[in-house]
Amino acid sequence: MAKCPYCGNGVVLKAETDADAALEVRKEMVGMIRKEVMYSCPHCDAVLGFGRVGIPRLQGVIQGLTR
Ligand SMILES: [Zn+2]
Repeated sequence: MAKCPYCGNGVVLKAETDADAALEVRKEMVGMIRKEVMYSCPHCDAVLGFGRVGIPRLQGVIQGLTR
């Protein structure tokens, strides 16, 4: 499981079980033209990264930050 680099709590890109639901990163659409998704930590609200819609790269982003 990826961890938030700010608060150290576990986060998942996409919840697959009810237990994961509270760990799922929040996704917010930003940008009117370049549609990007802003991912933020469900625990501390820190922004974890941005990604183009449909390109799920957050897993790598989070792992890169926590390395
Ligand atoms: Zn956090």
